[in-house]
Amino acid sequence: MTTENIFPVIKKFLYSDHEIFLRELVSNAVDATQKIKTLATFGDFKGELGELDVRVKIDKEAGTLTISDRGIGMTAEDLDKYINQIAFSGAEEFLEKYKDTANSIIGHFGLGFYSAFMVAKKVEINTLSYKEDAKPVKWTCDGSPEYSMEEGSRSDRGTDIVLYIDDDDKQFLEQSTIDGLLKKYCRFLPVPVISGKVQEWKDGKMQDTDKDNVINSSEPQWMKKPSDLTKDDYLKFYRELYPGQDDPMFWIHLNVDYPFTLTGILFFPKIHNNFELTKNRIQLYCNQVYVTDSVEGVVPEFMMLLQGVIDSPDIPLNVSRSYLQSDTAVKKISTYITKKVASRLEELFKADRADYESKWDDIKIFIEYGMLTDDKFRDAAMKFVLLKDTEGKYYTLDEYRALVEPEQTDKDGNVIYLYSTNPVEQYTYINAANSKGYNVLLMDGQLDNHFIGLLEQQIEKTQCVRVDSDVVDNLIRKDVTRNVDLTPLQRNILTTEFRSQVPAVEKTNFLVEFEALSPTALPIVITQNEYMRRMKDMAAMQPGMSFYGELPDSYNLVVNTEHPLIMQIRDEAQKAVGAEVEPLANEIDEKNKQASDIRSAAKDGKLSAEEEKQVSDLEKAVSELREKQDKIVTDYAATCPQVKQLIDLALLGNGLLKGASLNDFISRSISLMK
Ligand code: ADP
Repeated sequence: MTTENIFPVIKKFLYSDHEIFLRELVSNAVDATQKIKTLATFGDFKGELGELDVRVKIDKEAGTLTISDRGIGMTAEDLDKYINQIAFSGAEEFLEKYKDTANSIIGHFGLGFYSAFMVAKKVEINTLSYKEDAKPVKWTCDGSPEYSMEEGSRSDRGTDIVLYIDDDDKQFLEQSTIDGLLKKYCRFLPVPVISGKVQEWKDGKMQDTDKDNVINSSEPQWMKKPSDLTKDDYLKFYRELYPGQDDPMFWIHLNVDYPFTLTGILFFPKIHNNFELTKNRIQLYCNQVYVTDSVEGVVPEFMMLLQGVIDSPDIPLNVSRSYLQSDTAVKKISTYITKKVASRLEELFKADRADYESKWDDIKIFIEYGMLTDDKFRDAAMKFVLLKDTEGKYYTLDEYRALVEPEQTDKDGNVIYLYSTNPVEQYTYINAANSKGYNVLLMDGQLDNHFIGLLEQQIEKTQCVRVDSDVVDNLIRKDVTRNVDLTPLQRNILTTEFRSQVPAVEKTNFLVEFEALSPTALPIVITQNEYMRRMKDMAAMQPGMSFYGELPDSYNLVVNTEHPLIMQIRDEAQKAVGAEVEPLANEIDEKNKQASDIRSAAKDGKLSAEEEKQVSDLEKAVSELREKQDKIVTDYAATCPQVKQLIDLALLGNGLLKGASLNDFISRSISLMK
């Protein structure tokens, strides 16, 4: 590797992010300006400071872009030391240093002045040092390792960097491009950066006025002391950062200088859609120079939902993302931010509960996300996470426990948290639970599915049960159980009668069950097993669990044997088909008994050929009898519109009645009204 290669290499390395040259050169100009200010403050520079701004000028005809400052300037020795030696001796070292991270240094610091050669075929430096008796110097380099230094023409202190823009990079001679880049990288720099003139609409087009266009009129509020800022200052700053968005709900001012330096302001936005989230992200600065808005690794994942600014010279920027995450300084920063955010939330919660509650719906996703992904945050958040019930009341975890423990503890001592994912669809169930004195939580957020699991894990003896996963009497199993009052014959007939009238619903099974619910409860309740439903919900979100996803939905069709209508159906059915079914049922029992007697009599469980035949004949006879019996009941059921009607009503209440079945239901309802 020879030194001749350095410029093509710089170009190639960074071709995808040419624009950062401007950030680098303006930063240098700002640094030089800050230095002269510092020298003046300490009395080491006694001359006139003058207008200390940085100017970026385009000359389209000459094809140049010039960055000028009135900073400390450079002597010939300075140029030799800072520019020549590094640029022309350091190629090998440079390549050695960056060969592994070629891609990751793109867009980050580490290149400084050389980045000019990403966009320029020739670079000139015209400079005059602040030092007494300094002579102006002009340095020129056309990208080959040859450079020239001669006496320059600059008459006032400072430096011009003149870039002769490459043919491939002509966009950097457009005012709008340059202004856009300066706005992106330089809007919070501490020295005025001026680019062209302010434009005005005149004579049917935009025209330059004679006013300088100052890029960085915004103040970097995060550099100030929190006590010097009002609420309006924060809001104004937010609006400048993210124009057109709703005001944030609250903010956190970060300010540390040991063991690392970090300042910043994080805002809790009102999130309306994912687009805003991906567009308006946290911006990372290094000493007020914008670096990037991809902060993965620097802040914990869940904080990506926040917005604002983080400024730290301690975040290594010229390394890869994976390295960043294992870097101890970065880990400390990340932990610090998490702690700060958690304690700020707790403070807000304690200071004004009503206000906190009014914002809860908007911050809930953030807090749940944090609790699910970050153990430290989870532990802290147990104090200020809220639960909301279906009536819109909010509770802390402790408050909620105290509220439901007396009524909602089951016979094993578990406290059952009932929840609804959709209060409109699950209205009847919520109603039933409430009238039994149970409270129902609202869990309709994107992460609630997972959050429920977290509650069960973190709070001992807690189980979450969706309000429609069983009939209300069974949601919380207590010792008292009511017996279903049905004779075997009645059970037999009713099972077939109801099963035969369930319409076919695609990929869905119904299991008929009997429960002695209250006479005022619904005649039929459809429930879905909590465990299976959760598995299916999870499967829908995670590709690896398709086994559960493939299973049909399985519902229980719970028939309330205490309901007067069901009793009536039971009695009528017995009257209509009981006499016919009873002998068949007896015969079935008899034959089943014979078969099982043969089996249990066999030595070592082995049947002789003779016995095998007897058993299989009996089984055959049983299945024929069953068919016969089913047919009798099914035919009868078809003449009882109220059975079908009750089933359809229950299905309808669960949004399961669709298409042709819904149509049938409507016509049947009309004809029943006649
Ligand atoms: P860095 O800024 O990271 O030190 P650079 O390659 O950008 O690296 O610059 C090297 C040195 O050249 C700077 O440290 C500074 O001393 C000097 N320099 C660069 N630009 C200017 C300028 N506009 N005015 C005065 N000195 C400058």
